[in-house]
Amino acid sequence: MKISHKYLVILALMLLKNFQVADAQSAADRQGFNGAPKLVVGVVVDQMRADYISRFWNKFSDKGFKRLVSQGFLCENNNINYSASETGPGHAAIYTGTTPSINGIISNDWYSRNLDKMVYCVGDSTPKNLLSNTITDQLRLATNFTSKVISISLKDRAAILPGGFTSNGSYWYDAATGKFITSSYYMKEIPTWLNAFNERKLPAQYLKQTWNTSLPIEQYTESTADDTPYEEVLFEGEAQPIFPHVLANYKGKGYKVINSTPFGNTLIKELACEAIKSENLGKGKTPDFLAVSFSSTDYVGHDFGINSIELEDTYLKLDKDLGDFLDYLDATIGKENTLLFLTADHGAENNVKYNLDHNIPAGLFDAKLITDLLKTFLNAKFGVEGLLLNFSNQNVYLNLKLIEEKKLSLYDIETAVANFLLKCDGVAYTNIAFEVTVFDNNYAYQKFIKNDYNAARSGDVMFTLLPGWMEWKSTGTTHGSPYNYDTHIPLIFYGWKVKAGDYLPNVNITDIAPTIANLLNIQAPSGCLGNAIPIPLK
Ligand SMILES: [Zn+2]
Repeated sequence: MKISHKYLVILALMLLKNFQVADAQSAADRQGFNGAPKLVVGVVVDQMRADYISRFWNKFSDKGFKRLVSQGFLCENNNINYSASETGPGHAAIYTGTTPSINGIISNDWYSRNLDKMVYCVGDSTPKNLLSNTITDQLRLATNFTSKVISISLKDRAAILPGGFTSNGSYWYDAATGKFITSSYYMKEIPTWLNAFNERKLPAQYLKQTWNTSLPIEQYTESTADDTPYEEVLFEGEAQPIFPHVLANYKGKGYKVINSTPFGNTLIKELACEAIKSENLGKGKTPDFLAVSFSSTDYVGHDFGINSIELEDTYLKLDKDLGDFLDYLDATIGKENTLLFLTADHGAENNVKYNLDHNIPAGLFDAKLITDLLKTFLNAKFGVEGLLLNFSNQNVYLNLKLIEEKKLSLYDIETAVANFLLKCDGVAYTNIAFEVTVFDNNYAYQKFIKNDYNAARSGDVMFTLLPGWMEWKSTGTTHGSPYNYDTHIPLIFYGWKVKAGDYLPNVNITDIAPTIANLLNIQAPSGCLGNAIPIPLK
């Protein structure tokens, strides 16, 4: 029989309808936290690009990333929908379900007009720079604060932002002492269990070890040679950036170096397991939430670039740590009781010199030079000194008071700045604050600027670099652009009732929080702009 096109359409609609009905029936069973997961685990891998899953697939074990992909629901096209693709904005977007324009985390740090200085997104070790609440706050609110929320990371911003305003504990790494700490916002003293964990002195043990590749080094065929000019010579006592990396030289010099090794991720895995055990996570009547962020992937990427054997080996070791963590969750909470998602805060581009050596467009943007030239230009054009207050994160802040005093036209100066920047090497386009707020600009990447722009915190003129361009040095790499190398990040939902699947439509980083809200039957965060992804449930 020849099946007609029309018949196929009807069949497809019938299947879709069945799927929706099945889901609706199970929704009734899930009300009142009946049948809800006992523990939600958010895993963020700092600087993980979506393509790493495929790039390292043949080297991964069956226990880590492969287990998540084969048993979980993979959203292949998950993207960041703003251009500030950095750690602070990324963690804020994942947990608030909204963009910097609404959650206020426009960058890791930004210029404050009130204080006339740069401020850090979690500068006082509190979440108070967040302007909307988080999915973790919503869980606490929805359960009358019976759910427990714990967030951990090496980086303070990657622990504080996910924990929201009401976390029961947010802990991060103090590189000077090698201990995990918190702030008085959360509690007076760290809990006994964390004290005991610190006393295990794992960082001191790691310093005695050598970072060797997990596989014989000639098997790292997904990466460049071990010794390239694209890598930083990072470790003390080394003349070249090559394996093995000996850490013994750091004895007595603090524990910061752990960040830039796979040991930093192992340390977080150990802490995550300890937090589950000691806080009795997943044992209450309402769901608990553990937010875990692995940061060493980001440090290694910055130092050695994304094509290095160091980066590949860091992912192979993270794959093992993830496997151990999933085994631990299976043994203590059970896969059927644990809803886990894995994503990233941003990706990264190839090293600039690496791109240029392969004839691929790239460049280093010299912000210091452009700042000096812009100052001279504005002085000459408007006959007034001091019009430029600050030039940072591709935001230009003008001295609004002075402009008013001198009765100059703000719009004329903004336009002059924008036109000046358009003539600079590496600049793709500019946006004037007034126009961002007034016009609905959906042209290509310009639409991201609207999602970046927060009136109280952003500059008067914003600009975006061309693909491959960055403010960085000649070795290693960075991120922070609206381009897919920085914005295309992994997203996997796994465990509990989640059916395995592969989802191709575009979704955004801001869809993660409403998806979790949907699965838990709670409200999405206050400023949420995302949409719940239709996760098929068993
Ligand atoms: Zn970074």
